[in-house]
Amino acid sequence: MHLSIVTLIVGIAILAALAFEIWLDIRQIRWIRWHREAVPAAFAGRITPDEHRNSIDYSIEKLRASMNNAVATSALTLVLLVGGVFGEVAQLATRLAGEGYLAGLLLAAATFLIFAAAELPFSWWRTFRIEQKYGFNRTTVGLFITDIVKGAAVAVVLGTPFILAIDFILRNVGDLWWLAAWGLYIGFNLVMLLIIPTFVMPLFNKLEPIDDVSLRGRIETLLARCGFRSKGLFKMDASKRSGHGNAFFTGFGPSKRIVLFDTIIASLSAEELEAVLAHELGHFKLKHIVKRMLTMLVTSLIGFALIGWLIVQPWFAASFGVSASLPLASLILAMLVLPAFTGWFRGFSNWRSRVHEFEADAYAAGQTNGADLASALLKLHKDNAAPSTTDPVYSTFKHSHPPTAERIARLQAA
Ligand SMILES: [Zn+2]
Repeated sequence: MHLSIVTLIVGIAILAALAFEIWLDIRQIRWIRWHREAVPAAFAGRITPDEHRNSIDYSIEKLRASMNNAVATSALTLVLLVGGVFGEVAQLATRLAGEGYLAGLLLAAATFLIFAAAELPFSWWRTFRIEQKYGFNRTTVGLFITDIVKGAAVAVVLGTPFILAIDFILRNVGDLWWLAAWGLYIGFNLVMLLIIPTFVMPLFNKLEPIDDVSLRGRIETLLARCGFRSKGLFKMDASKRSGHGNAFFTGFGPSKRIVLFDTIIASLSAEELEAVLAHELGHFKLKHIVKRMLTMLVTSLIGFALIGWLIVQPWFAASFGVSASLPLASLILAMLVLPAFTGWFRGFSNWRSRVHEFEADAYAAGQTNGADLASALLKLHKDNAAPSTTDPVYSTFKHSHPPTAERIARLQAA
């Protein structure tokens, strides 16, 4: 144990953030359980009482799992930071590999592995218990394991040069290292945006051009009408993992592409698919993507500046039993400490995201047909077994999308 005023404050911050999460989850569980027996008015005639009850039971199981996950992650963070275990792992890395780059890499890998191992049982439970029970899971045990192995390989290949470069900057740049590290981080993200859609995603899924000629023609007409150029229109075999449906735009420049899950192609009509894509196009046309990227630029700059200030404070690393001889150890330590204090801002970004969703819905209604979007939203809502009612406080902090009923109501009013 390394009890000091610093570890005490960090410990309290971790517990406060956890308590807030659990308070929200419990509110939501109580709310939806309370509304389990009656289909909300907005969905009357659209979902059956059985579908409604099923979606509530499914949501409650997911909320309980997420609470357990949050408790485990917070407990682990407390043990690492307040319990001094992170300091011991850092010492072990220097004992094994000295104070050079290899020690930094070892410590980064160990930290990553500790959190990944803690996450594994929860991921297993979600996939093979909850998703399985409600009929969404298509992942086999073999695929689950292959995904982990491939994910680890990708993390090693992409993460190693990044960590070495950050360590190099830490050791050589001097006071303004955090500014250089921020520049590297932004560059790394841009490279990922090029690499992930073109090289990484195909490792996990089969992406093939959409072969349905009429659907293709319809989407290409929509893209031309909205003045959007993409480098490809793909269908992804998401159904090998889950029955849930989705569609997304990804990449930039030569890697810019539109991906539709095969599950969504199977469940939506051509008109509904067009409306969903028009919504996604709305995010581009209304500059939501650019705004999100600018926010990321600014918040990550603030984050790096904070870390830059934090790790040169003489009390910081010492409070957690971490020796200053391994610069990367202090950086990783700061990255473990900061989320306990910054998690509170997530409510704000969710609020902004909900505003953007309404705007993109309105754009889609203007470019296509609002009624098609409304029926698509309802189908996706049912396919995902989303609860048709939600605690307003929970929703304010946690939901990046407005409730389906509100989105449909606005589309119908327009
Ligand atoms: Zn959206």
